[in-house]
Amino acid sequence: MLRVHNLETVYSKIIVSLKGVSLEVPEGKIVALMGSNGAGKSTTLKSISGLLKGEGGQIVNGSISFNNESLNGLTPDQVVSKGIFQCIEGRRVFKHLTVEENLLAGAYTRKDRNQLKPDLERVYHYFPKLKALKGRAAGFLSGGEQQMLAIGRGIMAKPKVLLLDEPSLGIAPLLVKEIFHNIKEINKEEGTSILVVEQNANVALSIADYGYIMENGRIVLQGKVAQLLDNDEVKDLYLGGG
Ligand code: ATP
Repeated sequence: MLRVHNLETVYSKIIVSLKGVSLEVPEGKIVALMGSNGAGKSTTLKSISGLLKGEGGQIVNGSISFNNESLNGLTPDQVVSKGIFQCIEGRRVFKHLTVEENLLAGAYTRKDRNQLKPDLERVYHYFPKLKALKGRAAGFLSGGEQQMLAIGRGIMAKPKVLLLDEPSLGIAPLLVKEIFHNIKEINKEEGTSILVVEQNANVALSIADYGYIMENGRIVLQGKVAQLLDNDEVKDLYLGGG
């Protein structure tokens, strides 16, 4: 279980971003973290994955733990070695490397090098499009294909928890559906726990078990997906009415 408790963060020492965020990702579950622009969703993910510091941010209070072991203060590499992997945004794949080279780069911390081939096949099983494109430089992929590649790299790291930051961003609706379907498949087949940040609450709730809604650095609502879908405030503010 990944647990964030009462997390408070600042940027540039003074700009308060998170004001006491608590959330949990139970083993094998998909948890959606939703909310509008600037609510603090990305900051929450970066705090977990150790990437906050590189952005001029800092945790000033609260704790992050995975299976009761503290993650506070770990570097991104150390967090990866604990089994928690944040998929970088699709547009930040290595553009000059091929698709397959990018995938192999996702496995950089792994010692079991002889397992890489079957794992590549697993990625291609979830994303057949990547197999067809495996020799192509990643810079030539569409936005959606790059997003698949970013998630594929996550699979190559064999994490226990996958952190996804807005997989739907800038992608055509049909492809968004496909990518989210694949995320659910990965969760089912690999047992990977997933924390997915999304502004698009409709699509996030279509695969999640549990959801949190953030506003202005705080969690303002949380519940099982069925409860959230039934909540009038959620319907009006986050699901486009009705
Ligand atoms: P979005 O969907 O727009 O990414 P978000 O919910 O992920 O929104 P964050 O990116 O976590 O929100 O931002 C939370 C707050 O922290 C915002 O007020 C934002 O302006 C601020 N912030 C984010 N990154 C930095 C940074 N590197 N330096 C200073 N302030 C930042």
